[in-house]
Amino acid sequence: MATASVPEIFGSMVFDDRTMQERLPRETYKALEKTIQEGKSLDPTIANTVASAMRDWALENGCTHFTHWFQPMTGITAEKHDSFISPAGDGSVMMEFSGKELVRGEPDASSFPSGGLRATFEARGYTAWDPTSYAFIKDKTLCIPTIFCSYTGEALDKKTPLLRSMEALNKQAMRILKLFGNEDVHSVRTTVGPEQEYFLIDRDLYNEREDLVLTGRTLFGARPPRGQELEDHYFGAIKPKVAAFMRDLDEELWKLGVLAKTEHNEVAPAQHELAPIFNNTNMAADHNQLTMEVMKKVAERHGMYCLLHEKPFDGVNGSGKHNNWSISTDTGTNLLEPGDSPMENAQFLLFLVAVIKAVDEYQDLLRISVASPGNDHRLGANEAPPAILSIFVGDELNEILECLEKGKPYSQKDKEILKVGVHTLPRFPKDSTDRNRTSPFAFTGNKFEFRMLGSALSISGPNIVLNTIVAEELEGFADKLEKSTNFKKDLDTLVKKTIKEHKRIIFNGDGYTDEWVAEAEKRGLLNLKTTVDAMPLFLDKKNVKLFTKHRIFTETEINSRYEINMENYSKTINIEALTMIDMVNKQILPAVEKYVDDLSLAFSHKKALNPNMNCHMEYERVTDLSELSAKVYDEAAELKNAVESAASITDFEANARAYKDLVVPAMETLRTDADKMETITGVSYWPFPTYSDLIYHV
Ligand code: ADP
Ligand code: MG
Repeated sequence: MATASVPEIFGSMVFDDRTMQERLPRETYKALEKTIQEGKSLDPTIANTVASAMRDWALENGCTHFTHWFQPMTGITAEKHDSFISPAGDGSVMMEFSGKELVRGEPDASSFPSGGLRATFEARGYTAWDPTSYAFIKDKTLCIPTIFCSYTGEALDKKTPLLRSMEALNKQAMRILKLFGNEDVHSVRTTVGPEQEYFLIDRDLYNEREDLVLTGRTLFGARPPRGQELEDHYFGAIKPKVAAFMRDLDEELWKLGVLAKTEHNEVAPAQHELAPIFNNTNMAADHNQLTMEVMKKVAERHGMYCLLHEKPFDGVNGSGKHNNWSISTDTGTNLLEPGDSPMENAQFLLFLVAVIKAVDEYQDLLRISVASPGNDHRLGANEAPPAILSIFVGDELNEILECLEKGKPYSQKDKEILKVGVHTLPRFPKDSTDRNRTSPFAFTGNKFEFRMLGSALSISGPNIVLNTIVAEELEGFADKLEKSTNFKKDLDTLVKKTIKEHKRIIFNGDGYTDEWVAEAEKRGLLNLKTTVDAMPLFLDKKNVKLFTKHRIFTETEINSRYEINMENYSKTINIEALTMIDMVNKQILPAVEKYVDDLSLAFSHKKALNPNMNCHMEYERVTDLSELSAKVYDEAAELKNAVESAASITDFEANARAYKDLVVPAMETLRTDADKMETITGVSYWPFPTYSDLIYHV
């Protein structure tokens, strides 16, 4: 593809602003734009006009079908395809698409997780058009981004609460902006740029591993002699095969209007990263879902498989997703960017301390928002941020906050002295220590980077929490300041008080050390190590109050999501455990037995030649492998017992706890011994590709 054509292909498969301007009557376009820009509710009468314009555009681009594209609680996207055909009455067909079909769909909700909602409500669900995210074409199908709800209006998806949270934040941030006299601002949106990590491995090798195929990660595998210790992969030259994949991926994503910007290698061998240019949070979430889907598809085309699991390989760096987050006005101002005037800086500081307070008060929710069985392998494992929430602000901003709290002047280059609302703040350089990546939540100059997300996670959950908790703090601030008779003084007091009360969450050191774990405990910060430890706090009174007050989740929705996540944990571990048992019994033990048999044969042949022949190696190997085989055989049986006893528990909470406390440790024991066998079994005997094959063979 010639470079000149990039602007031409960019968004070519998207019914975006440009296309709408071209194809919609002026009035319709204006009404739709108002909805998109300001979240105003849509006039239903325009739906027919929009639908027929969309249909014409889709048909011109070779589409035969349309689908409501939605994001159920499975974490991936779902589609129900319908064709455009409609009988014309004379035996022929016409291609039709009505406003009604655009606005509303009725997929069968019973095949998606509903967490108890199904018992109380009908299995039917409906999807409803989200006009704030553009329709697009994928695989000759017109895809309409939609929300997904039960018939009684309970959200069954990840988009609905995300939109609600953006609205909550908009409402409260607007109150604050009014106080600072921003008359020209009409709305505020959060922005997100999610950096996506992934692994690429050879597709044939992938297919030879039952664990990868069934669970997305390796359940066995001894560490190869060479790991990532040379650190030469990061930003190293991209292999031709991977480079071709990346070019193709970029092009596919650009067509879909995804602002894919940077592609590079990551820390581990075979690991890579894609960073998009940020977008509003709703579109960023849609685009990230699309990105993950397209990555998988394009990898297949290139004879590779894209692993999005958080921890495909034990002992090798896992994959995460960095959620760069900020707040922006419709006039284009980034509210987390220190401004040019004293008033703008005071406003910046207020938003900054709102985030600090929010993260401190809702550490549990942020932790919960990234909780998944896959991510349990990363958080706290000294390669990803720890499971403890803290904020990195960098040395300079830290000093400023300290001065503010103590009412001391802050001087920079001996001239500028800072008091809230009085003097200009410096622009913060991206602190170089920020590159250590040990902080779970870092201020990076004009945005926050939430780094605890797992690579496979939908970014909706973490952003729902971020938007809501910041909305909550802004609401508290606005309630106080709106009553103020001395704004500057009260603002100053509020900022000081907030820093004082929440500075325990600020930590600029190395998050991987044991000292930090101890220090965090002293500070009273939470350390929720696993999904099962974290999830129950979702039901904490303060959290239920937060979500219901801001109309993000009803209590029923909270309960159902809790149940879905716990069940998902149990199901995931269950599949992993059963896969291990299967691989041990059907692949590993028979393979080792064959090797042992060959060694024993060699032993007796050699002894027959000469009774004094040195058969020390054969003897030792056979002995060791026989011991290990017996052990592994028993451990697989124990794992089976553990799974059976966990599975027999019907209460979903006790069930998840049993998987964590009984099954996970039994899996670890089994793996350890099976991996020991791998290191002393002939490679030609080993029944599936090894770590060396997988990560060095692309
Ligand atoms: P790096 O961290 O590699 O130096 P950047 O800081 O430029 O790169 O950006 C990292 C990610 O943060 C990108 O995806 C970028 O689009 C995103 N980002 C930059 N500014 C914002 C913002 N205001 N809101 C949300 N995301 C942003
Ligand atoms: Mg980053």
